[in-house]
Amino acid sequence: MTAKGLQVTVENLWRSYGPVNAVADVSLDVGAGEFVSLLGPSGSGKTTLLMMLAGFDHPQSGRITVGGRDITHVPANKRDIALVFQRYALFPHMSVADNILFPLKMRKMGRSERDARLRGALEMVKLEAFAERKPSELSGGQQQRVALARAIVFDPPVILMDEPLGALDKKLRQHMQIELKELQQRLGATVIYVTHDQEEALTMSDRVAVMNHGRLAQLGSPRSLYDHPANAFVAEFIGETSFVPGRIAGATGGICVVETPAGTAQARMNETLKQGEAAVLAVRPEHVSVATEGTAPGLLGKVAQVVFNGATVAVHIALPGGGTLRADVPAISPAASLQPGTAVRASWQPDRASLFPAAG
Ligand code: ADP
Ligand code: MG
Repeated sequence: MTAKGLQVTVENLWRSYGPVNAVADVSLDVGAGEFVSLLGPSGSGKTTLLMMLAGFDHPQSGRITVGGRDITHVPANKRDIALVFQRYALFPHMSVADNILFPLKMRKMGRSERDARLRGALEMVKLEAFAERKPSELSGGQQQRVALARAIVFDPPVILMDEPLGALDKKLRQHMQIELKELQQRLGATVIYVTHDQEEALTMSDRVAVMNHGRLAQLGSPRSLYDHPANAFVAEFIGETSFVPGRIAGATGGICVVETPAGTAQARMNETLKQGEAAVLAVRPEHVSVATEGTAPGLLGKVAQVVFNGATVAVHIALPGGGTLRADVPAISPAASLQPGTAVRASWQPDRASLFPAAG
């Protein structure tokens, strides 16, 4: 098996069901051999987008190409794209081997080539010893590996997966994430992977496409999404974020000064915002420092709650004018033993905070 992935491009794709825009003007470029996740809450359009890539659903407008070939109107069985679901959809009366051979028989492949491919696929998913078993004689993880073997056995250049590990328990899921990623790297196939689990998307993907209400909210590497969220939705959906509303007071050298009811704070400049405009500042808890001295810089608030999390302690700080700010501090630091009600100053490196337009 020496499949080489193909590039997949999606251009201005639209799909609506009555008044609902399930997929709204999505454009996306997935490189050959790249692993891209579609990440978003339930109902954000992930499955609809994947089904259009597979050819089981059809856009009202837009274009899909694979390896430069326009497949927008090509039937599913002519796309050479494999699809793996959460429900394994194995044939219960067939052995593991016959399940895996099924797509090859459909393609009328000769017996010797079929057998060679079966052996290769079984080896890939480490199920050589289970070829004669029925699906019911396998664990959930093994069944999912059979479904994977059946997907990769015809050497597809593109593999689509819709929450393939969703039915597995957490430990097995984490194990399978690593296996899947290794398998994809060995195959060289392009993978588009749907999940609503941000941790799964961040660990497995070269890039993540964050979906919100049918739209692509941001496409980027896990690191860039985390460090530089493009909007408040991505900041909130990926990782922990505290939001502080305020007003832009000025800007110098790529840093904005923001006036808030709790004092003056700083954040990276957002070019779309102007002086005097309402904005919301977003900052990750691990970037927030807490001090008790009255003269320290930063926002002035009161400790509301201190939550022990093991290596770190989450200090929740209530700000005047409403809202809370979370600071994750090392469990061994003095800030970890702050008492509720204590007045504190919260601060951060200005370039660690983002600024977005005020909601509404
Ligand atoms: P996700 O996979 O991200 O959970 P879906 O793509 O399944 O989201 O759904 C996106 C939106 O489209 C949702 O609002 C959903 O209710 C709607 N939708 C999806 N499939 C259909 C359908 N066959 N008929 C009507 N509405 C649908
Ligand atoms: Mg779905």
